[in-house]
Amino acid sequence: MKTPLLSLKRSALAVACGLLSLSAAAQSPAQNATPAASNAFVLEAHTMDLKADPCTSFFEYANGLWLKNNPIPADRSRYSAYDEVTERNLLALKEIAELAAASQSPDAQQRLVGNFYASGMDEARIEREGAQPLQAQFKLIDAISDKAGLIRVIAQLHQQGVMPLFGFSVDQDLKDSKRYIPQLGQGGLGLPDRDYYLKNDAKTKEIRAQYLAYMKQIFSLLGEDAAQSAQHAAQVMALETRLAKASLTKVELRDPAASYHLTDLDGLQKQGKSAYWSSYFQTIGLQQPGQLNLAHPKFFSEVDKMLDAVPLAQWKTYLKWEVANSRANFLSQAFVNANFDFYGKTLAGTKELQPRWKRVLANIDAQAGEALGQLYVAKFFGPEAKAGVQDMVRNIQTAMRDSIGKLEWMSEQTKQQAYKKLDSIVVKIGYPDVWRDYSSLQIDRGSYADNVARASAFEFQRVLSRLGKPIDRNEWGMTPQTVNAYYNPTMNEMVFPAGILQPPLYHVQADPAANYGNTGATIGHELTHAFDDEGRQFDAAGNLKSWWTAQDEKKFLTRVKAIETQFNEFNPIDKLHINGKLTAGENIADLGGMKIALQALRTSLQKNPQPALLDGLTPDQRFFIANAQSFRSAIRDEMLRLKIATDPHSPDKYRVIAPLANMPEFSSAFNCQGERSPLRQGAKRVNIW
Ligand SMILES: [Zn+2]
Repeated sequence: MKTPLLSLKRSALAVACGLLSLSAAAQSPAQNATPAASNAFVLEAHTMDLKADPCTSFFEYANGLWLKNNPIPADRSRYSAYDEVTERNLLALKEIAELAAASQSPDAQQRLVGNFYASGMDEARIEREGAQPLQAQFKLIDAISDKAGLIRVIAQLHQQGVMPLFGFSVDQDLKDSKRYIPQLGQGGLGLPDRDYYLKNDAKTKEIRAQYLAYMKQIFSLLGEDAAQSAQHAAQVMALETRLAKASLTKVELRDPAASYHLTDLDGLQKQGKSAYWSSYFQTIGLQQPGQLNLAHPKFFSEVDKMLDAVPLAQWKTYLKWEVANSRANFLSQAFVNANFDFYGKTLAGTKELQPRWKRVLANIDAQAGEALGQLYVAKFFGPEAKAGVQDMVRNIQTAMRDSIGKLEWMSEQTKQQAYKKLDSIVVKIGYPDVWRDYSSLQIDRGSYADNVARASAFEFQRVLSRLGKPIDRNEWGMTPQTVNAYYNPTMNEMVFPAGILQPPLYHVQADPAANYGNTGATIGHELTHAFDDEGRQFDAAGNLKSWWTAQDEKKFLTRVKAIETQFNEFNPIDKLHINGKLTAGENIADLGGMKIALQALRTSLQKNPQPALLDGLTPDQRFFIANAQSFRSAIRDEMLRLKIATDPHSPDKYRVIAPLANMPEFSSAFNCQGERSPLRQGAKRVNIW
């Protein structure tokens, strides 16, 4: 539930485009498997509500019957087209994992997946162990006798994949993308964002009270009495609140420059606690860290002050909390239930805990996902799906080039740089060319929690070992079975895992209008991320380096303001409005993605004409309906509030209706005129890419 190992990078920079990762991970059977639930035509006419007016209620028109017939399952906080695919994928992965567990095969991937799954399903052993798997780390914590020892134990916990106090990673230098450097960033919180500690509205206060109750429950499960557990929960809350106050907001984190402060060990020592830092790096095994990024200096100044001022006993309580909270899901049922009651029920509104097999698969996906992925693609991902998507990607890149050429607000000089960046984008489809090597990771049929601990430590070492090596351009930031996609600005690459390339999101034999409206718009969305308000600050080589003339930049930012204003007006629940600044990048990508995908469809239809009408609908109409169907979803109120507060994506309904209000092509396609037309007028209409 918490940000896993490294809180610094992926969330801040690589723009993943789909769901919050708070629920289960994602998986699926693809084209050559012809899964039973698939619809070969992608556009699902039977899920529409033809009584709704497409001009004024397009989301309902495209999805009305689906919404009516698909209540949110009890173990989900949201149910969407992506979740449908995810559920189907989970069944496919379950079959793979069960076979691997039963087979005792000598094949390395089979053995790893089979052992991990078997240990995770061994409920009797997990119950018997109780909190015992935490004892080794608790012993380390109990033995701390001074502040130097405290730093050493924090470093040791980081090595084991528990991330108290701050985040550590080795990742690309934002301004020199050809090298890896150590990165230190803000972190150490148990609530989803700093604002949850600081806001004083009734809902937030209630969540804080529930968080305190959850902490108290965990401490009492660890053997403390009522008074002690209440005192310890309050201490952790106080400590985390100080960290929260010193943390940047999610909006501030969208400015890459705000998270870039190059220094080295000498520089850190000048700023404060020399012994702390050299001791930290020595313990994790970096004698010479070299140049590094102290991403959030203000946060670390507070950490320095806290290391001086907070009593050792309180630190020990905090570290124990961090260990227990990050491992709670892998312990006995009492811990799992406590964790679910807070992160699942209170925060996300989910009614029921997922069955164990789903949770175990989600964890294998997170910790050894490419081993699972290798088995998955061998069974479910065929070459024809890859070829079909490559063709769409080419057409969409061409449409983007044409669109840049026609921009009236951008100078020729900046356009040349934009073409250069566009032509340099790397596209990855399906699964990695080189699979991750898990040969040094020991996963056996013993303790599940011990397997989790070894997998976390393996991941820390894998990331640490990047230092000094050339950039690994084969690396993937998502597993092949994930129902999602991303653009990573420092690699200047877009990545489409096999998991997302299947019905109802994509089918190789589907009507092109439906494929372009759905997966085509996703491809356009990822491509536009290279040019959104964040991505556009990176050049063709992935460096944070401006390639814009001052005047073009000014014109671009005026347009960004307009889309911020558009989204700030939306009020999905309570008095909560969408945060236009937090969601700007995704909203720009949604609008740009739709526009260039529609353009690419038209080009493709010139080359390969299709019937003018299918199900009585024109190609443009089918394109828009397929797009709306790709975003069909219902969401629990709690999850909606959580998303508005923390998710850079707007709620799904608004991802459909907002772009339409900026596209005259939509009003033409459905003949929406006068008052019925959703089109924004004059300067209010946003046109960026
Ligand atoms: Zn996105």
